[in-house]
Amino acid sequence: MALELFNRDNELRGYSLIRATELKKQIEPYLDKTKDLLTGFNLTEFYSIQKERILTHFNATQADWEDWRWQMRHRITDVNTLNSIFPLTEEHQLEIAEVGRTYRWAVSPYYLSLMNFNTLNDPIILQGIPKAEELLDSSGEDDPMGEAFTSPAPCITRRYPDRLIINVTNICGMYCRHCQRRRNIGETDAHKNRDNLVQALDYVRANPEIRDVLITGGDALLLSDGTLDWLLGELHSIPHVEIKRIGTRVPVTLPMRITDNLMFILAKYPPIYINTQFNHAKEVTLEAKIAADKLVSAGVILGNQAVLLKGINNNPHIMKKLNQELLKIRIRPYYIFHAKNVKGTRHFIPSIQEGIAIMEALRGFTSGLAVPTYIINAPKGGGKTPILPQYLLSLDEHEAVLRTWEGKIVHYENH
Ligand SMILES: *Cc1c(COP(=O)(O)O)cnc(C)c1O
Ligand code: SF4
Repeated sequence: MALELFNRDNELRGYSLIRATELKKQIEPYLDKTKDLLTGFNLTEFYSIQKERILTHFNATQADWEDWRWQMRHRITDVNTLNSIFPLTEEHQLEIAEVGRTYRWAVSPYYLSLMNFNTLNDPIILQGIPKAEELLDSSGEDDPMGEAFTSPAPCITRRYPDRLIINVTNICGMYCRHCQRRRNIGETDAHKNRDNLVQALDYVRANPEIRDVLITGGDALLLSDGTLDWLLGELHSIPHVEIKRIGTRVPVTLPMRITDNLMFILAKYPPIYINTQFNHAKEVTLEAKIAADKLVSAGVILGNQAVLLKGINNNPHIMKKLNQELLKIRIRPYYIFHAKNVKGTRHFIPSIQEGIAIMEALRGFTSGLAVPTYIINAPKGGGKTPILPQYLLSLDEHEAVLRTWEGKIVHYENH
């Protein structure tokens, strides 16, 4: 009897070991492909050398660097300044200057310090520095989301039954080359005036079905502490507003914006959810971690909305690494957006097949926590539409035929 049990145990262990070897094989291509993939954490030293170089150029101090207003005042917006910090070829200078005449650009000194000008396809450079392709594309739309048609009150975009957006500013820490809101953030810098915000709040107050208010822009955390304190306080005082959300890229482009005073303000008005936009593991830096830690200790729940961008992250390994790095700093991947056809950004749009292949490579192969929802925004404000690889092959009243993450076909009884 005892011997039989022993044999049975051994048999199970043997089976499990074979299965574990199989699973180990599954992860090998990823480990192999990503062993040379640089992340923000293993670039810490390179970034700090670049930071010193930028500080020297501006004759500035570490304290300046940590001051987000200094960062905003010293955003790099012209090719001559850029060239005097990181020398560029003449051709590259001309390209940037030429595109800059049509589309303005700006990067914070911090985001500039993440750029590696020794590699032209650097994913940080691609997001921040103009490229000639922007001018070649005149086919895209200014407003593919039809935002102009879904604004029942000043600053508000309402496209869903129970939640809405309040647009508070069109200022950002940088002007991303792939920006899906270029129409709004293109030309003038302005926070919305108090009067308009008061009208937006009145709309929320008058519509009790609104239980979720998303403050965004532009970059919502570029509002002053005083305005944020007021706006969050007002929303907090509306009984039917159950949750407040903030859309911001500062954890990526200007992490020093997360000051102690901001933490103090955010902590007053729970629950607050912040969604940010990391698009590459190189953006997940020590500074970003410090910002995320501060937000978490203020009780904020963090999520990430990446944009799927050709040449930057349209690769299953890169996307998986990004999501894993984000979990390390307590940011939960929430969405991957398929890039919309916005004028000047067409060269960033990958195929939908690539997006599906990425989702396929995530599910099962890594933590469910690292698997966001892949979204295509339906044209004309039709709404976020989830796109999934097909796991349900057929379904009737007797059975479902499923495909597992490994591609095994299973028949599943349906009661
Ligand atoms: C994206 C968006 C929201 C939030 O959508 P969730 O799927 O709930 O994150 C709300 N309103 C508008 C207009 C949006 O575009
Ligand atoms: S931070 Fe957001 S809104 Fe601002 S330029 Fe970048 S993508 Fe556009």
